[in-house]
Amino acid sequence: MLARIYSDLKDLSGRLGNTELDLLADDLRKHLIGSSKDCLACERWDGAQCKVFKEKPEKCWAWTDDPDWEAKVDEAVRKYRWSKGCC
Ligand code: SF4
Repeated sequence: MLARIYSDLKDLSGRLGNTELDLLADDLRKHLIGSSKDCLACERWDGAQCKVFKEKPEKCWAWTDDPDWEAKVDEAVRKYRWSKGCC
C-alpha cells in the first residue's frame, strides 16, 4: 500500500514539477527502507514496479537489499548455460 502511495507521489511530482512532493516521496521511501521489507526497500524495485514479478507474491520470498543481485543472477545464468554447453 505504501509502495503504491510512493509511486503515485513520484508520478504526481514529476507531472506537476513539484519538488516538495518529490521530497515527501523520498522521505516516505527512507521511512519504508528503515522499517520494513516492503517493495520500496527492495533492490528489485525499479521505482515503479518489481523487476522480477508482475504481481507481488502474498509473502514475497525474493526481497533483497543486495544492490548486486542483478549481476549475480546474470552470472548464475551464464554459468548454467555454460554447464549445459549452450552459448
Ligand atoms: S522481489 Fe518481492 S519485495 Fe522485492 S520488489 Fe519484487 S515483489 Fe517487492
